[in-house]
Amino acid sequence: MNDIISIDKQYVANTYNRFPLELVNGKGSKVYDKYGKEYIDMGSGIGVTAFGIADNEWATAVAEQAGKLQHMSNLYYTKPGAMLAKALCEKTGLKKVFFSNSGAEANECAIKVARKWAAENKGEDCYKIVTLQNSFHGRTITTLAATGQDHFHKLFKPLTDGFVHTPANDIDALKKTIAKTRVAAVMFECVQGEGGVIALDHEFVKAIYDLSKEHNFLIIVDEVQTGNGRTGKFYGYMNYGINPDIVTTAKGLGGGLPIGAAILGDRVENVLGFGDHGSTYGGNPVCAAGALNVINRIDSTLLDDVAKKSEYIFKTLQNADGIEGVSGMGLMIGIKTAKPASEVVKAAMEKGVLCLTAKDKVRLLPALNIPFEDLKKAIDIIKEVAK
Ligand SMILES: *Cc1c(COP(=O)(O)O)cnc(C)c1O
Repeated sequence: MNDIISIDKQYVANTYNRFPLELVNGKGSKVYDKYGKEYIDMGSGIGVTAFGIADNEWATAVAEQAGKLQHMSNLYYTKPGAMLAKALCEKTGLKKVFFSNSGAEANECAIKVARKWAAENKGEDCYKIVTLQNSFHGRTITTLAATGQDHFHKLFKPLTDGFVHTPANDIDALKKTIAKTRVAAVMFECVQGEGGVIALDHEFVKAIYDLSKEHNFLIIVDEVQTGNGRTGKFYGYMNYGINPDIVTTAKGLGGGLPIGAAILGDRVENVLGFGDHGSTYGGNPVCAAGALNVINRIDSTLLDDVAKKSEYIFKTLQNADGIEGVSGMGLMIGIKTAKPASEVVKAAMEKGVLCLTAKDKVRLLPALNIPFEDLKKAIDIIKEVAK
């Protein structure tokens, strides 16, 4: 038996309901299956390959570092991690970075920092973290507890204690929750990705921010999906005019290699001390060299381009036949179709376009630098199959 689909089905755990498609290689926003059929990639590995597949600059940065020093323990200094941390702090105005290997781990770090900060500043009985219903923060037992969607929790209990969920965009409910809880932090995604690509209201985010001043708690923004240029700003929170205490990110940061970061602001930059946290691979030089290349290329020209492409998608799809609504921000798009989203995704795939879903929506997270020509072609096909 040497058919890859059969081997995978037999030996890989059944956690992914994969499409019957074996992808072999790609370039930019084009990817090819084992028969050489071409697809336009509108998912970019769930918002990971920020500059597309096998991007030359990124691949060179990674290959050069791999040929020099692919890994060293965190007992020693290495250049890529230091330079990446500096770049992230300069772009955000935050102060220090802890590197991990995934979004869930970046959030784990943020949660540990919030708990220690609250224990030291508000008392050890103050450890609750308020998150939003319909949120997604990861798959570890603690980040599942943070995730405000019950269907992810079923049969995995008991989850980590200390999380309270409140409905998104409901300021009254938020105020009530805050009033009756000893709150260490509020954690949220500016655009709920897995929850259906739903941007938070400006007034709601402002309310969280104002309450954080009034009640002295931290703001953690989960930018795992919204970060690194995805929404048309460097980070999603920059659309909302707030200053978070902790920003977590991953996905697009590495451009295709696993890296996560918890970026810490001045209230928490020194909360973690020697031995408080760690990760063997955290800030690995190859991943960091790739991420540094990604971060350095997210400039105003690219961000303007993301905004233009976003506008094009909204304009083209908003009132099209079979499309009931378009949501999201930048190149993070949710499309509510009259037909079931899974049917639209399947039909688009047959016509050479790879899309994602989020809840009942078709979700698009193309590479930030997707050529306009590819984008137009993909959107035309989505429009056609959604009819
Ligand atoms: C994907 C995602 C995560 C989890 O990231 P992993 O790298 O899969 O652990 C956490 N938060 C948000 C908002 C995400 O989109």
